[in-house]
Amino acid sequence: MAHRSFWLQEVLGDAPDEAPLQGAQRADVAIVGGGFVGLWTALRIKERDPGCDVVLVEQDICGGGASGRNGGEVLSWWAKAGTLVALCGREEAIRLATASVDAIGEIEVFCSEHGIDAEFNRAGYLWTATTAAQLGAWDSTVELLRDLGAPALELLEPAEVARRAGSPVHLAGVLDPSAATVQPAKLARGLRRVALERGVRIHEHSRVTSVDRGRPAVLRTAHGALTADRVVFATNAWAASMRELHTRLVVVSSDIILTAEAPERLDEIGWTGFEAISDSQVMIHYYRRTARGRVMFGKGGWGIALAGRLGPDFDRHEGRAVDVEANFRRIYPNLADVPVEHHWCGPIDRSHHGLPLFGRLGGREHLVYGVGWSGNGVGPSVLGGKILASLALGADDEWSRSSFVGDRPGRFPPDPVRFVGAHVVRSAVVRMERAHARGSSPRPWDVFVAGFAPAGIIPKAGRDGKE
Ligand SMILES: Cc1cc2nc3c(=O)[nH]c(=O)nc-3n(C[C@H](O)[C@H](O)[C@H](O)COP(=O)(O)OP(=O)(O)OC[C@H]3O[C@@H](n4cnc5c(N)ncnc54)[C@H](O)[C@@H]3O)c2cc1C
Repeated sequence: MAHRSFWLQEVLGDAPDEAPLQGAQRADVAIVGGGFVGLWTALRIKERDPGCDVVLVEQDICGGGASGRNGGEVLSWWAKAGTLVALCGREEAIRLATASVDAIGEIEVFCSEHGIDAEFNRAGYLWTATTAAQLGAWDSTVELLRDLGAPALELLEPAEVARRAGSPVHLAGVLDPSAATVQPAKLARGLRRVALERGVRIHEHSRVTSVDRGRPAVLRTAHGALTADRVVFATNAWAASMRELHTRLVVVSSDIILTAEAPERLDEIGWTGFEAISDSQVMIHYYRRTARGRVMFGKGGWGIALAGRLGPDFDRHEGRAVDVEANFRRIYPNLADVPVEHHWCGPIDRSHHGLPLFGRLGGREHLVYGVGWSGNGVGPSVLGGKILASLALGADDEWSRSSFVGDRPGRFPPDPVRFVGAHVVRSAVVRMERAHARGSSPRPWDVFVAGFAPAGIIPKAGRDGKE
């Protein structure tokens, strides 16, 4: 069994696992993947068409993937305004970014209506610089937002950024007040419970091993076959092994460490708020304090998967955790005495532009997908559920017509070229960012090669905020 994140360990045993798919079954809509995207989609379909027979199949348990392992930073798309405008135009960019803020409110309302204690806390997103090289990473976004008439990022005084983030290593930053934090596994398991209550049939421990793409489609698992009129693929990084999506996604790891509970130490250094925080590295660091006074500190982009194959290195990796802790110690020298108690990791489905992709597999109307969350899926998956529900129900509305749907530009080279190239670029990024952290100048060659990262080989903050 996969190593479980601390978040999942906190909630495991909350409900018995749902039985695997057995024998021949039928559904109006089959959903593959029981993470945030699959579960929100199931709930939206039931909301819009309560009579629709929805069956969700999950290879592990619901929430066992990225949704139960992530940093719990619930972010809007305002920090991605530049990419949104480039992809969709100004008007649609504002509409989608506004919808991404509404989605955060929808999570809060959903949790309170259904008694889900997901530790939702809306304290904003602090986008910071922890080295001189990162200063001003947000400048063009702030300017663009002003120009769009949507000044969503507030410039804070440097001292205020350092105070809120709890360490003088923070040199400057901006705040997006719309963001929140959650205990993600509690949210995922809450969604699962409500989906079951609404009549969604869930089969866990049911890996889909083959798909007959005819109409109806047939999904096969070890012990069963599910015939469905329409299928939604909400399989995150695992989708990179599908032939249509292979060059649309690059799969990298995100690695997390979690300290012991130390609320009094955090209070002492002035880290009393619950902002979701990140720096502006290419291989970004993201962090926050939890409700019980632990520090969650994560880093994106270390591990790279070949041909979308996800082994145990994408559940837990000792070597990468050591590096993540070293970076935590650099940014928080004032917490040197607080031990790290847990670490785990998970896969990120990085798209070329860092925003999700929706479409129809091989152009087939009845096979739809929503992947490519690029490390920012906790809040946006609410919108993903709306888009995928509209596509699965064949609706013609603002969601099915969203600019995200359809073939968009941006592909990676196929493996093994991508795998080798990603390693070369990542090594250059690592050397460059270590030099920045030491306060020295990186080698020009490393800066040159690292410059290929924005093309999407590694999750990138830069001018687009946390991914
Ligand atoms: C360590 C880490 C930190 C992150 N931090 C943040 C953060 O702070 N904020 C943020 O917004 N985002 C963050 N993310 C990203 C976020 O978690 C994801 O974007 C989001 O959870 C995507 O939801 P999903 O439903 O697409 O994916 P998942 O939760 O991974 O769900 C996909 C599911 O599909 C299942 N599946 C795959 N193949 C099959 C198959 N063949 N048959 C059956 N089931 C299958 C998998 O088991 C999995 O459960 C982070 C991700 C990781 C890994």
